[in-house]
Amino acid sequence: MISATPGRRKTLVANWKLNGHAEGVEAWLEAMAPIALEGKLDLVLMPPALWMERAGKWLARHPGAITLGAQNVAACEEGAYTGEISASMLARAGARYALIGHSERRRLFGETDEIVSRKLACCLAAGLTPVLCIGETEGERRAGETDRVLERQLAILDEGGGFSPGASLWIAYEPVWSIGTGQAATPELVEAVLSRVRSHWAGLNATIHEEPRLLYGGSVSPANAASLVALEAVDGLLVGGASVEPESCADLCRSVIRALA
Ligand code: PEP
Repeated sequence: MISATPGRRKTLVANWKLNGHAEGVEAWLEAMAPIALEGKLDLVLMPPALWMERAGKWLARHPGAITLGAQNVAACEEGAYTGEISASMLARAGARYALIGHSERRRLFGETDEIVSRKLACCLAAGLTPVLCIGETEGERRAGETDRVLERQLAILDEGGGFSPGASLWIAYEPVWSIGTGQAATPELVEAVLSRVRSHWAGLNATIHEEPRLLYGGSVSPANAASLVALEAVDGLLVGGASVEPESCADLCRSVIRALA
């Protein structure tokens, strides 16, 4: 049995994707901050980038409640890259984390492992914690290729990627077939995959102060969150659809907190 780092609070990351509305940012933060301030669950909001500063300003008036992350980050620090936002710009806007390699970016926007690797380096250089998303498609799973795919996606860590002792890393197992489909992975599968991820990390030379935090994402809902977050291997949950509306996200957080009590 592998286990999450003892004494570490579990985390819920709310990835709004291309959803929500500007005024909804404060409404969501106001609804979720009291839950975060109970101190039982760390909450990270990943709104569309345009609203990052808006959220950051609210959070500056309510320190310690919730932290901010970006859904995406440029693979370069500056230059002629129309439409991109760099890791250091995101950090200045208040972000502490950035998703890299989300399956929607890989599938819909051509994000290759090579690009993900450059994003990793940019995040580390800017002091952002990269949240590396990995996961197999339905076809890869059926073909028995899950391990091979995950190893390939994790291989970007093998070169060291600019890790310094002060860096931190999160890895989210998000099977593509479970994202937005209502079909979450079973607790057994999540345990098995995260165990392989920990072994992969243990085999690397990279030295950082904290073990990477391991998350699960894919159709997490108020109904299944408790059984997933309670797993020893799981440090937290990455939630898309169920995180956007404050009522649904609050229900989810409440069920997580009950499961951890
Ligand atoms: C995600 O996009 O990271 C995700 C987990 O989505 P959902 O919760 O909607 O499946």
